[in-house]
Amino acid sequence: MQSDKLRPSPIVPTIDLDKQGVQHGFLRLPYSRDDSAWGSVMIPIAVVRNGTGPTALLTGGNHGDEYEGPIALFDLARTLDPGNVSGTVIIVPAMNYPAFRAGTRTSPIDKGNMNRSYPGRPDGTVTEKIADYFTRELLPRADVVLDFHSGGKTLDFVPFAAAHILPNKVQEAKGFDAVRAFSAPWSMRMLEIDAVGMYDTTVEELGKVFVTTELGGGGTARAETVAIAKRGAMNVLRHAGIVGGRIEHRETRWLDMPSGDCFSFAEDEGMIETMIDLGQSVAEGQVIARIHPIGRTGIAPVEIPARMNGLLAARHFPGLVKPGDCVAVVGTVD
Ligand SMILES: [Zn+2]
Repeated sequence: MQSDKLRPSPIVPTIDLDKQGVQHGFLRLPYSRDDSAWGSVMIPIAVVRNGTGPTALLTGGNHGDEYEGPIALFDLARTLDPGNVSGTVIIVPAMNYPAFRAGTRTSPIDKGNMNRSYPGRPDGTVTEKIADYFTRELLPRADVVLDFHSGGKTLDFVPFAAAHILPNKVQEAKGFDAVRAFSAPWSMRMLEIDAVGMYDTTVEELGKVFVTTELGGGGTARAETVAIAKRGAMNVLRHAGIVGGRIEHRETRWLDMPSGDCFSFAEDEGMIETMIDLGQSVAEGQVIARIHPIGRTGIAPVEIPARMNGLLAARHFPGLVKPGDCVAVVGTVD
């Protein structure tokens, strides 16, 4: 997968990643185009380094229409006091920066979904080049990695931090410890429906402690979910021993995604009627949503039943759905 024969990344940081103190700069990715010959994509990065100690890599904007992470991380980059840091905090508030600027999930340049582009390629698309830089340059520096997600424009989630079930149980336990420290209202033992190409998978294969989140959605952010993101980032840094002070623990409830039965997908197009709201309990067979045909009157809606007992952890966001859309995710409560 990664061989020594790979060419160097074309990305050049405008700051010295090893320098002490606070630095604000860019990952400069050459991208020649109609409106900018010899131009570049300028991805904001901040590094706060003080002495020796562990390194945390904090990212948002892996998908460009998810806002809790970027809000919390632009804020943290501006406010984190290096005097309170022992080690290094690398902050990239918007990993897929072209997507973030466009307010879209994927990149407007190459349609790249950042979280399906790992481990990336130094000679690939813009999205693949960013992924490759993280894989070969930033991730090897990190001990703990926090990547913020939310539902974006098409999903909405109960706010949770998550780690994955892993073959290495020591690594897995460290991930769940960090999730507990994050202290979101919900904590998830996560199952991926399509783990190939994910940042998560690359980070975990490198043996790093990895925490991800889903903190809301709908292509916006709420005061509550932003507060969860800000507190969670600081808590993970405290838990890693990089930032001083006490972890601000909050009550959290654990959710599991034990199988693919968690997910419900639309097989019809139409207008979706949510029958229960996020965070409410559901029983297997209970109708969680109905899809109304919108071509004419007089036709009964299609009912979508829950495929297991649990709680509604995520739902489709906009009012219209089409076949294949993820309609609902049910988590089981511990
Ligand atoms: Zn996402």
